[in-house]
Amino acid sequence: MNKRSVRSLDMSGLVGQRALVRVDYNVPLEEGGRVADAARIEATLPTLRLLLGAGIRPILLSHLGRPGGRIVPEESLRPVAAVLQELLGTPVHFLASTDTDLALETSLGLPEGELLLLENTRFLPGETTNDEALGARLARMGDFYVNDAFGTTHRAHASVVGAPAHLKPAVAGLLVEAELDALERVRSAPDRPFVVAFGGAKIRDKIQLMEAFLASAETILIGGAMANTFLAGMGRPVGESLVEYDAVEVAADFLARAPERLVLPADLVVGVPGRDSNDSRIVPADAIPDGMAAYDIGPQARERFSDTIARAGTFFWNGPMGWFEAAGYAEGTRAVARAAVAAAESGAFAVVGGGDSARAIREAGLADRVSHVSTGGGASLEYLAHGTLPGLEALDDT
Ligand code: ADP
Ligand code: MG
Repeated sequence: MNKRSVRSLDMSGLVGQRALVRVDYNVPLEEGGRVADAARIEATLPTLRLLLGAGIRPILLSHLGRPGGRIVPEESLRPVAAVLQELLGTPVHFLASTDTDLALETSLGLPEGELLLLENTRFLPGETTNDEALGARLARMGDFYVNDAFGTTHRAHASVVGAPAHLKPAVAGLLVEAELDALERVRSAPDRPFVVAFGGAKIRDKIQLMEAFLASAETILIGGAMANTFLAGMGRPVGESLVEYDAVEVAADFLARAPERLVLPADLVVGVPGRDSNDSRIVPADAIPDGMAAYDIGPQARERFSDTIARAGTFFWNGPMGWFEAAGYAEGTRAVARAAVAAAESGAFAVVGGGDSARAIREAGLADRVSHVSTGGGASLEYLAHGTLPGLEALDDT
């Protein structure tokens, strides 16, 4: 990594200082405001413990949801503060404002050994437009800057790009460092054979990454709704399957350019549209019946994909192989998760990136058995495609 890490800091010179730490606490909230999944909070604990242990006072900035520059009470970070306090066993103060004199005073008066979480940065009109003056004002809340918000680092927002421009040092937290180490290994130095599995719904978000992998991967396995779009590009019948019609041409072009490296499922599990049903059946991939939708890869495809993955030197997976939220269509996704584990356990470097794919492997109880599960969806895909992110550009070079 060519960006400076928090581990490179001379901590003795920073005792008592305020670290402005951008975290990604964009967690799912249940009704009543309970945090439904604390994975993103847990992911920041190593950096926060490191800072606290060095006598540094963390001031935390995060966004939650898409409030669009105004106060939306249901998207307050207040419930997150309680969860963080519980997990750390350290007092976490919450302040219901972000860009105010009170926030500045509170940050200056924060006792050592405690943390301050400021309110949702996206309540501020200038956050997502990266308003320069806002970036400068947010920077006053800290003496130096730490980005540990990997999932947001592809956003050129005031708290990610604006604030660090005014603070020195500006460094990567441990989460960001671990993400970059793993993704950089996939991007620039994959052990061979390099196998990729793509699934999920949207091709358009992933075109540039597919382009990059077309140049670097030996095999790209394609499942999920993405496979339907490729099948449509081959002129095959797709019935009522989810197809991204404005990406059909792009899919056809990819196939024409690398027919031997793109692998589509040989068979599919089809069912009644919109129903997680037991009337599903297995059909060859070129024979999706009228009125039916393809919701998973079939048993032949599972076997072919699993064999290829298990023999990989490097494996990267983004996007579920089907409508995995429906119990009847989760088998293909589970098979790929198991194959990723098999690959990792036989010495391959196996990485999962993408919000839904990460959830799928966590739900299968297998997340601890692969090399790395990225906490960033869009950020990990963008880093793999381009080798940098706007929020990284704002940090000090090594
Ligand atoms: P990720 O978040 O891992 O990048 P995406 O957001 O691209 O993945 O896609 C995940 C979504 O795609 C899931 O909600 C899943 O149900 C849906 N999906 C995948 N395959 C199919 C399919 N064949 N038909 C309908 N939905 C699908
Ligand atoms: Mg998703």
